[in-house]
Amino acid sequence: KKSLFSGMQATGTITLGNYLGALKNWVDIDKDQYMCFYSVVDMHSITVRQEPSELRKRARSLLALYIAAGLDPVENCIYYQSHVSAHAELMWILNCFTYMGEMNRMTQFKDKSQKHPENINTGLFTYPVLMAADILLFQSDVVPVGKDQTQHLEITRDIAERFNKIYGDVFTIPEAYIGKVGQKIMSLQEPEKKMSKSDENANAHILLLDDPDTIMRKFKKAVTDSEACIAYSEQKPGIKNLLDIYCAINGKKPEEAVAEFEGMGYGRLKERVGETVVEELRPIQERYNDIMKNKDYLNKIIKDNGEKASYYATKTLRKVQHKVGFPDRI
Ligand code: ATP
Ligand code: MG
Repeated sequence: KKSLFSGMQATGTITLGNYLGALKNWVDIDKDQYMCFYSVVDMHSITVRQEPSELRKRARSLLALYIAAGLDPVENCIYYQSHVSAHAELMWILNCFTYMGEMNRMTQFKDKSQKHPENINTGLFTYPVLMAADILLFQSDVVPVGKDQTQHLEITRDIAERFNKIYGDVFTIPEAYIGKVGQKIMSLQEPEKKMSKSDENANAHILLLDDPDTIMRKFKKAVTDSEACIAYSEQKPGIKNLLDIYCAINGKKPEEAVAEFEGMGYGRLKERVGETVVEELRPIQERYNDIMKNKDYLNKIIKDNGEKASYYATKTLRKVQHKVGFPDRI
């Protein structure tokens, strides 16, 4: 079997962007072909200041959402990054094979350090190295992510290739898998920016746990343009985004959607997209509520999968530790 890794930060309830760009694609992956590891990457989350009790709650909630969205916790290894210490240990080693200059070019660091000028910590700077460790620990062949992560995937490949060149074939070189639809869902308020769960403006994003009224209200407020003509074009980012959301959910092509909405006003379009999202999220929210009630069930998944992830991660880690010259354990 091939191996696959992906994860999400517990920086807030995940958005429709995270769902359509990543989680929905995870659910569609063929489990006979891939051994899948899906992590709640809580270690990445603290690159931005978090309230401890909130972080803990959100991490659990995110793990439950993975399952509610359709990931079977027996077929897939769903676990907390912080429960598998190999992530941090491999990261340290990879840090020593990563150049400052490479990190300096990372656009996410530039964006996030502008957003949090009071807390530009070195964790934020070396975030891509931890992400490389996450991926390489499981010898991942494939990493399903949104388009915003392509630069981090490239650096992961560079680090792995550099390491392999020195020490032989240690790491599998991973490929990014970016879904055909929903690659980049934009903010409902500033459609030239990606939708992010850490956006402070609540109207900018649809959260997976938003109730139907909230979802409809946010779509009603979505920023569009003054043309009153439904077309799929880069010049009309607000309308394009609404059509992208619509198509990512029901599998239609943009042309089909445009034809369907021909002659309708923006108000009607927003309503239709809103209803489509409400219906998509309804069963996920119902399953989520059930899972959260069943504490023992969730605790067992967390424990079993944490151990399983540790087992595979440690295998790679020991190999790497030996390669760089650390004394073997007897
Ligand atoms: P943060 O603002 O805290 O970075 P985020 O919304 O970017 O949060 P991440 O946890 O960083 O979420 O990313 C989780 C996954 O979701 C990644 O695979 C990422 O590529 C994908 N993703 C994030 N935002 C979008 C989006 N707007 N459209 C499509 N995919 C997205
Ligand atoms: Mg992000």
